[in-house]
Amino acid sequence: MATRKQPAVPPKDARQAGSVCGKASDKMICDICADKIRAEALGKKKREEKGA
Ligand SMILES: [Zn+2]
Repeated sequence: MATRKQPAVPPKDARQAGSVCGKASDKMICDICADKIRAEALGKKKREEKGA
């Protein structure tokens, strides 16, 4: 069996609208969460750049 990285969120949950904050939205991720995720990704990158 190959060791594959599984997504943090199961697909059935990811299909829910506003899967990030639970807010009703026609988009998968509302603008607020999209911004949050973007900031989080940026922070992660910064941390990686700094070195563990
Ligand atoms: Zn949201």
